[in-house]
Amino acid sequence: IFAKAPTEFPQPGQHLKKETKEFDLDQSLPEGSVLAKTVVLSLDPYLRGRMRDGGESYVPAFDKGKPIQNFGVSKIVKSANSAFKEGAHIYGTQDFSEYIVLSGDQLKGYKVLENKENLPWSYYVGVAGMPGQTAVYGLKQIAKLKKGETIFVSGASGAVGQLVIALAHSVGAKVIASAGSEDKVDYLKNELKVEVAFNYKTESTEKVLKANPFNAYWDNVGGETLETVLNTISEYGRIVACGAIADYNTPNPYGIKNSFQVVAKSLLMQGFIVLKTDIGDFYDVIPPKIASGEINPPKEHIVKGIDQGEAFLDLLKGANFGKAVVSLE
Ligand code: NDP
Repeated sequence: IFAKAPTEFPQPGQHLKKETKEFDLDQSLPEGSVLAKTVVLSLDPYLRGRMRDGGESYVPAFDKGKPIQNFGVSKIVKSANSAFKEGAHIYGTQDFSEYIVLSGDQLKGYKVLENKENLPWSYYVGVAGMPGQTAVYGLKQIAKLKKGETIFVSGASGAVGQLVIALAHSVGAKVIASAGSEDKVDYLKNELKVEVAFNYKTESTEKVLKANPFNAYWDNVGGETLETVLNTISEYGRIVACGAIADYNTPNPYGIKNSFQVVAKSLLMQGFIVLKTDIGDFYDVIPPKIASGEINPPKEHIVKGIDQGEAFLDLLKGANFGKAVVSLE
């Protein structure tokens, strides 16, 4: 339950609370609706932006006193809708709740997951879900990487970063990657075979980037890292403005001082909101590539049970290692 808007990091028990309510599993359903049991829920950094006191943004603020919402996979246990059969798994934005009832109208925003590849359901909120769609869109439409080019990826071991790396390698590009712990850097080097990986907390980003020329930047973090990139990226470089997690939990965002480099170096810098993009043939392409091994199985950070305020805080502080997922399986 969204209890209160934080000004800095959200504290479990204070800004997010757990509530227990009776739920009638035998209730009769209005025509067109379904009753479903939640299987997995996604924890994503953008949820922090919804924890606010109203106001304009690209996503609405959460309603105080109501469950927070995010992407999830649920299994239909009872149906009064012939297009959504009992036993089917559905994907969409839902309440953080163990059981949900969805009306026919709400179901218009849901997708029945066929899962012909028999992937774990958690993948559908990660590499085969919104974060995966983010990586595919930003690389194809903005970075437009060519063979032999190099891309720098920040926040590289996370949900989006992992797939950005795999897709960059698949077109023959090289990758420089940063993350915030030695474990994450080992994973980037040894599992994802990144050409240059470093810990931005213990090594100088500027030094690494000056020593390794790069043509594109995948920005997951914003702030000081973006400022360093603007000073070091090659001419005609492309910057995919995906996120700015370094600024999400502070009332005083960093504020870059060298945006003129975009002009001076003829750079292209473009942001996007994946939810407003056309995901095209994503579901026909990405799940089969995961099943065939062309894309590595994702690293996941799975926590069990609905009451996961602590896990959300971990995600915002970097204590997650891989895609953060709440499992109710
Ligand atoms: P991750 O799985 O990468 O988790 C967040 C990671 O961010 C943490 O593990 C941590 O890793 C890193 N981080 C936290 N604080 C900082 C900081 N101050 N400086 C640098 N890194 C930090 O999350 P996602 O892959 O789900 O999301 C990555 C980014 O993409 C986010 O900014 C998110 O908002 C954005 N996004 C944008 C979308 C769009 O439509 N534009 C859609 C989806 C995501 P570490 O230990 O390495 O610091």
